[in-house]
Amino acid sequence: MRDDGDQADKIDDTNEPIPVTKDQIRFVTHDPQPVVPPRELNAWERTIVDRLLSAPFPGRQAALGQAATLRVDAECPRCPSVWFRTEAAPDELILSGGERYWGIAPCEFHGRDLDGVPYQILLHIEDGLLAWIDAFRFGPEPFLQRPDLATADVVCA
Ligand SMILES: [Zn+2]
Repeated sequence: MRDDGDQADKIDDTNEPIPVTKDQIRFVTHDPQPVVPPRELNAWERTIVDRLLSAPFPGRQAALGQAATLRVDAECPRCPSVWFRTEAAPDELILSGGERYWGIAPCEFHGRDLDGVPYQILLHIEDGLLAWIDAFRFGPEPFLQRPDLATADVVCA
C-alpha cells in the first residue's frame, strides 16, 4: 500500500493554508545515478543506517537483517544521498499491520550545515525494504560539506 503521495496530489482551490510537508520544503531534487557494480556502504552511510535503526520499532529486527547485506546501487551527484540494493529473506520484510511498510524509519538526523542552514537525513523504507538514504538541506543551495554526523542530533518519532 502506498499512500504517501495522495496529499500532495490534491488540488487546493481554497485559500486555506496547506500543511507543509518535508517534500514541500525541498528545492533541490535528487538525480540518482547507477553505481555498477553495487558497492559496500562507506563508514558514513553505515553509521546512518545503524543509528537510525537503533531505536525500537515494530519492523526493527527485519530491518537489521536487511542492513547486514545492503549495497549501494545508486548515488546522487548533487548530495550524499544513496540508494540501496536490498536482499531480504521472506522473514526479513519490514511490515506494518501485516502490510509491507512504506515510509521512513522512526529516527532521523537533524543538523546544520557550515552556514547554519538546517539539513535532515532520512532512511526510507519502500515495499518493506530499506530503500535509500535521503540527505537534504532546506532551501535551494547544495550541501557545503557532507553532513558531520558527530554534530547532528538523532531525533526519533
Ligand atoms: Zn541529491
